[in-house]
Amino acid sequence: METNNDSETIANFKKDSLDQSFRDSVATISKEGNRNYINPQKPKGKLYNLRSYFSYVYLVLFFTLPFIKLDGEPFFLFNILERKFIFFGVIFWPQDSFIFAIGLLTFLVFVILFTVAFGRLFCGWACPQTIFMEMVFRKIEYWIEGDANKRRKLNEMPWNSEKLLKRGSKVAVFFMVSFIIANFFLAYTIGMDELEVLVKEGIFLHFGTFSALIIFTCVFFFVYIWFREQACLIVCPYGRLQGVMLDKNSILVAYDYIRGEPRGKATDAGSGDCVNCHACVRVCPTGIDIRNGTQLECVNCTACIDACNEIMDHVGKPQGLIRYASENNIAKKEKTTYTWRLRLYTIVLLSLLSFLAILLITRDDVTARILRTPGQMYQKLDDHKLSNLYNVKLANKTRKVIHVDLKLENIEGEIKMINPIDVPKESYFQTSFFIILKPAQIHSRKTKIKIGLYEDGKRIETLAVTFLGPAI
Ligand code: SF4
Ligand code: SF4
Repeated sequence: METNNDSETIANFKKDSLDQSFRDSVATISKEGNRNYINPQKPKGKLYNLRSYFSYVYLVLFFTLPFIKLDGEPFFLFNILERKFIFFGVIFWPQDSFIFAIGLLTFLVFVILFTVAFGRLFCGWACPQTIFMEMVFRKIEYWIEGDANKRRKLNEMPWNSEKLLKRGSKVAVFFMVSFIIANFFLAYTIGMDELEVLVKEGIFLHFGTFSALIIFTCVFFFVYIWFREQACLIVCPYGRLQGVMLDKNSILVAYDYIRGEPRGKATDAGSGDCVNCHACVRVCPTGIDIRNGTQLECVNCTACIDACNEIMDHVGKPQGLIRYASENNIAKKEKTTYTWRLRLYTIVLLSLLSFLAILLITRDDVTARILRTPGQMYQKLDDHKLSNLYNVKLANKTRKVIHVDLKLENIEGEIKMINPIDVPKESYFQTSFFIILKPAQIHSRKTKIKIGLYEDGKRIETLAVTFLGPAI
């Protein structure tokens, strides 16, 4: 009976026997140092179909969410310039930056936990870069220029009418789609209403917004027409962090080298299941050979799984020579386990989620600050009473106008407002008021006073201030 150690020895032997020359080059850069433009074959198969359906839902959401409003406000908004963020209809203010930071931290831990367990599943299925590249632009490319062989022929062709027409159409359609995506991207940052204003009032009145739109369009166009998979390889920090996040239990798109090696024809005696047909390499959008093991370039798009499954069907071998599996699944034939690292991440994630939930539940709709007006001493009034002047600043995070009344909580006296406190929706409001006390109520130079803030008779906050009086 084969033990775990035997399996590991076999695994190491098989791995050592693999050609390692792939480590000396990057598929997207030629020997001369030029950009090697990958022309992957159009994938087909169960997983590709599933990914396509998933991407349709994703794209429908991406293109409809900016139109969805809650009480006249966007459902999602990421306005960095005005520091206004809306998630699922909840408005986050600069005062909420703590909640925002905890939210981001939680998201980061979630990403790490998810990656430790499932590798780059996100990259292949849900990353906007992969979705737009593989499910939008690549499909347009297949439609205009044809599959890999036709595109390679087109590359080698002189600039005749066919090449001009195909390449010209591709550039035009890519630019148009990039422009549409840029519009929606902008709608997520400034809101659909602002974007409509730009369209209605013209570019000259909104030159800044229009410039942003053109810059976004050019960036998207450059990424999808030329840069492509290099965004995942060179730019994306998540991709670059894979090396430290993955372990031998992480589930990835992996080649079963135990089963596949040594490669050879299906009829060769002693050969493994891999028939060395290179179908998995031909479909790979990053130009790698998954049989070389886990590589930074692999975005887990599953195209090689589909391609290999089709070959296995042809040669009468079981599917799954390339499949979702961890190194330990393959080398030691172990089942996926819930490791100590996963447990620790789960505890941290659950703690952060609970903390975030508490912060969200207890978040104030109205925040206020009261300060005695700087440089002002107490004033003596005609009736011998004493007064102090204060400034009150309020932030209304709700979508309705809020009227606030102030009341003295721990002392008898009078509050005299300069203006009534009517805070417009989602706005700041500032005004001043006097606190007037009788001299008999003042027992020290600084009297501590509590002021209650009431909305519709309901106390929403209590703030402490000091009242300056004469030295006693
Ligand atoms: S190796 Fe397979 S899963 Fe990874 S990018 Fe290439 S085709 Fe996609
Ligand atoms: S598609 Fe499968 S059989 Fe063909 S080379 Fe790749 S791993 Fe081997």
